[in-house]
Amino acid sequence: MRRILWFRRDLRLQDNPLLSLRGEVLPIFIFDSNILQGLKADDRRVSFIFSRVVALKQRLKDKGLDLKLYFADPIKVFSSLALLGFDEVAASGDYDVYARQRDLEVSRLLPFNYLHDIYIFSPEEVLKADHTPYLVFTPFYNKAKSLLTKEHLRAYPFVEQSLYDTDYEGILKLKQSERKMLKIEIASIGLTSTHLNIKEPEAVLEAFRLSDYEHSREIPAIKGTSELSLHLRFGTISIREVLRYLAREKQKGISTEAFFRQLIFRDFYAYLLYHFPHIEKENYKYTFTGIADKEKYTSFCEAKTGVPIVDAGVRELLQTGSMHNRVRMICASFFTKDLLLPWQWGEAFFAEHLLDYDAASNVLSWQWSAGTGIDPQPYFRVFNPYLQAKKYDPDAIYIKRWLQELEKLTPKQINDESWLMANTVPKYPRPIVDHREAAKVAISLFKR
Ligand SMILES: Cc1cc2nc3c(=O)[nH]c(=O)nc-3n(C[C@H](O)[C@H](O)[C@H](O)COP(=O)(O)OP(=O)(O)OC[C@H]3O[C@@H](n4cnc5c(N)ncnc54)[C@H](O)[C@@H]3O)c2cc1C
Repeated sequence: MRRILWFRRDLRLQDNPLLSLRGEVLPIFIFDSNILQGLKADDRRVSFIFSRVVALKQRLKDKGLDLKLYFADPIKVFSSLALLGFDEVAASGDYDVYARQRDLEVSRLLPFNYLHDIYIFSPEEVLKADHTPYLVFTPFYNKAKSLLTKEHLRAYPFVEQSLYDTDYEGILKLKQSERKMLKIEIASIGLTSTHLNIKEPEAVLEAFRLSDYEHSREIPAIKGTSELSLHLRFGTISIREVLRYLAREKQKGISTEAFFRQLIFRDFYAYLLYHFPHIEKENYKYTFTGIADKEKYTSFCEAKTGVPIVDAGVRELLQTGSMHNRVRMICASFFTKDLLLPWQWGEAFFAEHLLDYDAASNVLSWQWSAGTGIDPQPYFRVFNPYLQAKKYDPDAIYIKRWLQELEKLTPKQINDESWLMANTVPKYPRPIVDHREAAKVAISLFKR
């Protein structure tokens, strides 16, 4: 069997189903020109991907293999590879809307061997008795738990494969009739490199204190979560490796439930997007889609809303490419309910800046916050950002970390809307909306 191994969201050697197949192989990675042309030159995510692809190439070389790199439209790549007598292309299933459409087109050129890798369950695995998808998380979670077997934790061994003989130097650019070999550097694909201080996934897991997770995961001021989302997004760690880690911790008597639940959330969101692809852009329920107010949107994106926990979150996002989950929820609620902006705008803003950006988790979380999603979240649930901050950042440590201009204020002042409305804080704006008023308007609009 002669096959193309197409690496996408599985940029690793260990426990990779692709590297468990026997035969003659051409491992490839495509810098997709369709995606890259829409990004800014300093996109941090591409910097991360680029560095991981280069590392993967080296690791494959150490094992007697290699990685052929392309900068092109994937359809163009496979149109040319289809002429070379390959039996199939093997790749791990990616269930995003764009990815599914792209893979469908590729499968018309070459037989497509879709491997299961990115999530714990495949999207058709956890279904109701009538074979329809679950719409509510808890029943999905219970069913998923009941279906979990050792097979979901299996480690795929690296098996000996013979390397297809071709030129593995450089990055091959394919554009219309042009074929050009480019140097292996990020400038070749039109981007600049950004320095990112990202630890290897093994070190991330090593530093993670699972035993504290349940209590510390909601506190943005401390490092209480795993910080694995980026590695899970690009498959620099295998989801099964994380499950095996949980199994080992459980054997030591540590509770794994809270963390496992979050992993199932990740599966659930990908599952919903797979079964209901139109929700990537459209409300699942209600017709209200927000009010397009550019001024409010700019204030949010520039961390100038005057609501400290929201502005702190946006600063964290802009400076690091990440944002604590609790703060993501507060920001998304404020964006859709207090500012009444279209959730799609917020989703796109997060997509532009989050290193761990994942269409399913992002879209479904934004729809959850907007109250327009699949889950039974009622539209009248509106987070009060001041009460949220009081509860989860009572000493304003997180807020002051990102908003140094509030250094001299007490936590009480920072979390008191009336105080912020009535006083002038040097270099910091007054709140641009009155929370209680805004929430009332939001609820009446949704009701209508
Ligand atoms: C508005 C909004 C947008 C979001 N956008 C994204 C996104 O683009 N990409 C993304 O990976 N996550 C997203 N999330 C979910 C969550 O915020 C991140 O997964 C989490 O903050 C990552 O940090 P961690 O790895 O330390 O998480 P941990 O708490 O350690 O969780 C472990 C893993 O479980 C998964 N997970 C955790 N919480 C969630 C959740 N609520 N939904 C789905 N999966 C979860 C992640 O893969 C995470 O790495 C979003 C949440 C909100 C409210």
